[in-house]
This record gives sequence, C-alpha cells and structure tokens, in this order.
Amino acid sequence: MTPSANELVIEHNAAIDTWFHIGGRAQRLARPESTEELLQCLSLDDRLLMLGEGANLLVDDDGVKNLVVSLQTDGFCAIEIDDATGIVRTGAGAALPRVIAQTVNAGLGGLEVLAGIPATIGGAAVMNAGGSFGSFADHVLQVEAIDRLGRTHTIARRDIDYDYRQSLLNHLLITAVVFQLDHADPEELKNERTKCMEYKAKTQPMSEKSAGCVFKNPVLVEDLDGIGRHGERVSAGLLIDRAGCKGMSVGGAEVSHIHANFITTKPDAAASSVIDLIERVQQRVLDAFGVALHRELVIWTEREIPR
Ligand SMILES: Cc1cc2nc3c(=O)[nH]c(=O)nc-3n(C[C@H](O)[C@H](O)[C@H](O)COP(=O)(O)OP(=O)(O)OC[C@H]3O[C@@H](n4cnc5c(N)ncnc54)[C@H](O)[C@@H]3O)c2cc1C
Repeated sequence: MTPSANELVIEHNAAIDTWFHIGGRAQRLARPESTEELLQCLSLDDRLLMLGEGANLLVDDDGVKNLVVSLQTDGFCAIEIDDATGIVRTGAGAALPRVIAQTVNAGLGGLEVLAGIPATIGGAAVMNAGGSFGSFADHVLQVEAIDRLGRTHTIARRDIDYDYRQSLLNHLLITAVVFQLDHADPEELKNERTKCMEYKAKTQPMSEKSAGCVFKNPVLVEDLDGIGRHGERVSAGLLIDRAGCKGMSVGGAEVSHIHANFITTKPDAAASSVIDLIERVQQRVLDAFGVALHRELVIWTEREIPR
C-alpha cells in the first residue's frame, strides 16, 4: 500500500470482491473516506470504476487497469433518518439490507420490498434494483453525485430518467441518496420484508455464487406463442428455460436449474467461462425465439463484449 497526499491509501494488485467470487484483480484500489479523498481518486484516474457490493459484476480474468474505488467506508456509509418527515439520507457505500433494517425498525416503509437484494445504495441507485414487489427508484427523492470533472450535483428524481433496471447515473460517482419514505407499522413492514425474502429463497439460487439475473427481461417485438404478446416485457428466465439452457455449463459456470436467468459459479470457474456461457445462452434464445437478450450484468473487461 502507498499513502499519497492527505492519507488516501492506494492498494496495489488488490482483490475485487464480487458475489461470483471469481475474476481478476485491480491494479489499484482506493477506499476514500471523504469527498476530498474521492476527488483525489478522480485526479489519479478520471476513468475510475466504482465498486459496490459486486453483486451485479463480473471482472474479467485479466483484472482492470483503471483505479477501482469502493465507498464502503465509514465516510460514505452514514444513514440519517428524520422520523418526523420520513426523509432518509444515506451514504452510497451503505449496504441496502442495513438501510432496510433501520428504516423498517423506524416505522418507515418503501424499501422493505427490496429485501434480499445484495447491494450498496450506490449500486442499487445506478441499476434501479428491484423485482416483483417494487423498484429502488420508487422512493428516491434525490441523488447526490460527483461528475468526472469533479463537480458536485444534486439530481432530483424526475431528472434521473429511471427505467427498468437502468438510470442516467452510470457515468457519475454517486455519493449519497435521499429517500422519501412513508410512515407505517414496523410489524407490518417486517412481515412484508419476510415475504419478499421467502419469495426470493423459493425462486432463486440464493445459496450459490451468482450475480443475480444476468439478462434484462426483454420487450417482445412480436407475439410469441405461450410466452407473450407484442410490446410485452417477458421473463428472460422463461425464454432461457424454454430454449433448453438450464444446466448448460462452461468450465465451472452453469445456468442455474432453479432460475434460468442466474449463472452460478464454482470457485475454480474462469470469468471467460461465464462470458462464453452468456454468449451461448444469447445465441440459443436468438435461434429459438428470434429474441435478443441484453445483459443486466456489468462486465469489467478490456475486450469488446456486446451488451
Ligand atoms: C443472490 C443475488 C440476488 C439478486 N437479486 C436481485 C434482484 O432481485 N433485483 C435486482 O435488481 N438485482 C438483484 N441482484 C443484482 C444486484 O444485487 C443489484 O444489481 C445491485 O443493485 C448491485 O449493487 P452493487 O452495490 O453490488 O453494485 P456493483 O455490482 O458493485 O456495481 C454495479 C454497477 O453499479 C456501479 N456502481 C456501484 N456503486 C456506484 C456508485 N457509488 N456510483 C456510481 N456507480 C456505482 C458499478 O460501477 C457497476 O457499473 C442480485 C444479485 C445477487 C448476487
């Protein structure tokens, strides 16, 4: 580790922790504790990569040359709850499950529908994480961020252009999110949280290594018998299953038998095996249904890989 000016520590050849538990390393990794240190990171590399929980991320085997920045530090994990107004401000590095636990206990509802989703607040804000019960965007009031030139921004919800699993936030460094939550009975919120977690445990391979859904649910451009109608957003998992991909594997990467939109990895899997499997699944679904699947999964790689 080399301390630079003002104590920002740069770790060299550092592991990048992801939920796949595989993949390459970071040539340089920083964990800033303050906005000043985050700005120092930008001055070192304005093409730096923001790392959250790594729950939607695959790092290619060669690792990454860009500076990797994690905000899972005390300086970016504070959770401030205003009980009277229901306004909650949380640092971008805070773990979503911790924010859910604290808001539920405070009798503030809205985020409990995201229970079971591993994420930092920053990662969930970029991805608009969500599922059958709701989306991250639903209760966002504003997002605080720094752009690549080091300028700070406060972006109102209406200007973020949130859509299904996407936002206009990708190019920014998100530092905090402010939510407007609703007053509710904590016991009811706890029951709702349990319901969401039980649903995930029943339908998804939660005990295996994965990054959640690999592909976005596509919108059909024509009617597909037994799948859906033109213009409808349908389950990518259903298409992958019907294309006969469950159990398909490359190296230590496998299409889950429990949920076909999950790829699970064994500890010895190479990231290139996951990428290879992704491309095979895309081709099988294209051949079977004429539907192009686009990745929800973020891949950090030097190669050109279509989304
Ligand atoms: C078991 C499992 C279940 C899952 N279930 C769901 C689900 O039900 N619904 C769902 O939507 N997702 C699900 N996911 C995927 C994942 O939880 C979400 O996509 C989550 O939002 C990722 O957040 P993260 O902090 O891990 O981001 P990362 O995976 O670390 O990063 C994702 C992207 O966000 C960017 N990013 C991260 N932090 C910041 C920041 N502070 N500023 C700017 N950019 C940033 C990264 O650069 C990257 O581009 C699941 C994953 C797993 C492993």
